[in-house]
Order: sequence, then C-alpha cells, then structure tokens
Amino acid sequence: QTSTITVSSAARPYTTAEQAAEAHDRLVKTFASGKTKSLRWRKWQLKQFWWMVTDNEDAICRALAADLGRPDMETLVVECTVMKQLILDQIEHLEEWAADDPIPEADFIFRTIGKARIRKEPRGVALVLGAWNTPVLVTFAPAVAAVAAGCCVLMKPSELPVASQNLMADLVKSYLDPEAIQLVTGGAAETSELLELKFDHIFHTGSVKVGKIVLTAAAKHMAPVVLELGGQGPAIVTGSVDPNIAAKRIAWAKYMNAGQICTCVNHVFVDPSIHDQFVERLVYWTAKFAGEGDLQVSNIINKANYNRLSGLLANTKGKVHQSHKSNEATNTFAPAVVSDVKPQDALLNDEIFGPICPVIKATYREAVEDINSRPNPLAAYIFSNDRSEINYILDNTLSGGVTVNDLMMHGILPGTPFGGVGESGMGAYHGKYGFLAFTHLRAVVEIPFWLDSLMAWRYPPYDIKNKSN
Ligand code: NAD
Repeated sequence: QTSTITVSSAARPYTTAEQAAEAHDRLVKTFASGKTKSLRWRKWQLKQFWWMVTDNEDAICRALAADLGRPDMETLVVECTVMKQLILDQIEHLEEWAADDPIPEADFIFRTIGKARIRKEPRGVALVLGAWNTPVLVTFAPAVAAVAAGCCVLMKPSELPVASQNLMADLVKSYLDPEAIQLVTGGAAETSELLELKFDHIFHTGSVKVGKIVLTAAAKHMAPVVLELGGQGPAIVTGSVDPNIAAKRIAWAKYMNAGQICTCVNHVFVDPSIHDQFVERLVYWTAKFAGEGDLQVSNIINKANYNRLSGLLANTKGKVHQSHKSNEATNTFAPAVVSDVKPQDALLNDEIFGPICPVIKATYREAVEDINSRPNPLAAYIFSNDRSEINYILDNTLSGGVTVNDLMMHGILPGTPFGGVGESGMGAYHGKYGFLAFTHLRAVVEIPFWLDSLMAWRYPPYDIKNKSN
C-alpha cells in the first residue's frame, strides 16, 4: 500500500516551548505507567515504524528530492532499506535481547541458589536529535532502538530539510502511539530549550560543535548520551591495489548525496607508486558519475554550505579537476578532485562534507602519521591487498569503524556497532548495540534467608583468627 500523505516544503511554525514541555510531560507520565515496558507494545510500535517507512517510500523519496535534489535510488537505499533492516533486526531479536541475561561468571551459590541475573531496564524518556544529511534515517533509527528498549521517545529532526521534517512530523502523528512517541520541530533556539528539560537519555546525531552543547546540557541532569558525530574520514590507498577500482569506489562515495554523508571519505592518501594513475582514474569516474552533459548530483543543503565549499576550492593550493560547472541557483556543486594537496592545506582543516576529494601523495606509513595528528575519525578506509599493510594501519590508528577495500559498509552491516570515538562521538547503535544504548543493565542478585547459617563469619565483631567461625 502506498500512503497518500502529502509532501510539502512550506514552512510551518515550530513547536512552541509550551507544546514541547507538554509533550515531554506526557511521555514522562506514560513511562511511569509502565506501558512501554510491555514487549507486546514495543513489537506493535516497531511494526508501525516498519509500515510507516514501507507505505511511504515514495513520499520519503519526494521529500529528499525536494530538500536535496537527491536521486530516488540513493534515498531508497540510504533512508528506506537501511531503516527497514534496522527495524526488522529489532523485531526479530526483541524477546532475546530483552530477556534477563544469566551471569556465567557468578559462582555456584549466586548462580543457582542466589539467582544472579541482569535485567534489561529501559532508561526512561529519551530525546533524539537528528542531523540534516540523511534526515529520516538519523531521526527514526535511534527512535526505533529507544522503543525496542522500552523507552518513551521525543524526536527533534533537523530543521534544514524542510520537506523531510514536515513529512516526519505527519508520519509520526499518523502511525505511532502519541502517548509514548512524539516529534517536535525547531532550530537551535528550540533545541536549546528542549535541552533544559530532564531526559533520561539523549541521542544526538550531528556536528562536534553541537555535540559539545548536548554533552554540557546532559550533565545538568546526569543524562547518559550517545553522540553520533562526524569528522574527517581518511582513505589510504597503498601500492598493492588496482588504482582503477579504488578510484571508482571512492568517487562513488563522494558522489552519493554529494559527499554529505558522515561516513563519506574526506580525503585520500595514495602511494607514490600508483598516485598518477589513481588521480587520472578518480578524475575519470568523478566526471562520469556527475553525468554526461548536465550535472546530476544531489544539491548542497543550503547557500552557507555551498559558499563554504566554493571557498575551499578557491583557496586550495592543490590542482583542481572539475568536469562540470556548478549551479549556484540550485546549490548544485560540481564534484571536484583536488590533487597535489599538502597536509597543511586549508582544505584539510575540517570535515569537507561535500563532493570535493583531496588527494595527498603519501606512503601508508606517512598517512598513518598524518591521521594520528588529527582527531579520531568516524570512519577510516584502507585499500590494500597486503595483509601486513592492513594490519599495520589497523594497529596504529583508531577510528569509529573501518571498511577495507570499499566505503561505508561497516555502517550498514546488520549486527555491527555504529559509532565514533574521541571527537567523532561516543556510544554506538544499530542492532543489539542500539537496544543496549537505551537500556540500563541492572544487576539483580537474590539471596535466600537460609544462607545466613553459612554466613556467620561476615557479621561483626569479626573473628579473623578463627576463620572457620
Ligand atoms: P548539527 O549538529 O548542526 O545539527 C544537529 C541537530 O542539532 C539538529 O537537530 C539541529 O537543529 C540541532 N542544533 C543545531 N545547532 C544547535 C545549537 N546551537 N544548539 C542546540 N541544538 C542545535 O549537525 P548537522 O549540520 O545537521 O549535521 C552534519 C554533521 O552531522 C556532520 O558533521 C556529519 O558528519 C554529522 N553526522 C553524523 C552522523 C553519524 O551517524 N555519526 C550521521 C549524520 C551526520
């Protein structure tokens, strides 16, 4: 069934502070009632999430086309298929993950007589803050994990992709239990007000800058956080691979959503022995993916980011290769390769988050040194056919995740924890890791009264000398 829900980019008034406080209050009361702890309720709502995405794939594609000019194929894969897989994973394993865990390490007495176990307790009312680049996925996927864990959840999607934000607001109202799952809208000011409220967990996907604001706000209420942030994802291409296939895969990652993906490769280190061939191939594939004739690539989210990218290209000391002309009127930025880039180039000061691919000539050992001089990235990519090179890079760097000989795959593989380390974030989700992110592991040990006869020794006054007492 395809829903008839409308897609609109028309600006709507944001949720007021009073409405947000009311929504929060409602969720607090619902959580206290115990409603969301029921596995039946959780499964019902997870299925509703699944139908919400399945019925509305067309609408989600249209929203992302309106917000980012994104090709439907990318939206279907990135927002819908990945999302549905994450939901199915939670439904399939819900009973198993929610069940008490035994404690094998507990000794005979605690395990059999004393009944030691770990209960999975939902943390309470969770706040989910979403980023703009894959807005549906990064808003709904953490909410799905929260619901699976038995939490109530308040979502606040990014305000920048307006059609997606409006669509998500309408979908949540139509499909999900308003007693326990709510969505509010707003920008930085409204989010700051939200962060004043007491949440039992905060899940933020976005920039490092706002991640720090969230962390500070969470401290006021001692709320645990998961921060899914960004940063510079480097790729290292060693001399042991076919430069053509490495270039093709890297060009694809930079093309997808115009490089506006948190796990996109930021810049590439290429071994001097294949450097020139690699650059030639990267320029070739980048031009090919940008389309024959007219430029075909997702748009940049707004003028500020478009201008930021233009500034980076204008100021780089590297050599710019750009097959197409950018279209300023639509914020469509022509994908660019920049070769002869030195590590000090301003192009490498920050996460690029756009279709610009700097290439640095370096051995994999030099690349490792450079990577370690910057904050830990969310993703790192290794292109190598030599196990000792792969091991050297893995052993001497740290990143949220790694894909070898391809891009972004560690972020979508079922059962794989997805999260950053250091400046790229803290905590992880997806699959069981998502369930656990919103769960408190509560140790429970039950001691029978009759055991007292064996425990006389622990009561004061202590008799150290007579240990057998
Ligand atoms: P952002 O941090 O600016 O915005 C994220 C959320 O924070 C939005 O809902 C926004 O309304 C809110 N916000 C913005 N400014 C705020 C402020 N001053 N105070 C309180 N709240 C504020 O991030 P973004 O620009 O939407 O997203 C881009 C970044 O997100 C990139 O760095 C990207 O790498 C990262 N990202 C990470 C992941 C991941 O899973 N690790 C996924 C997508 C994007």
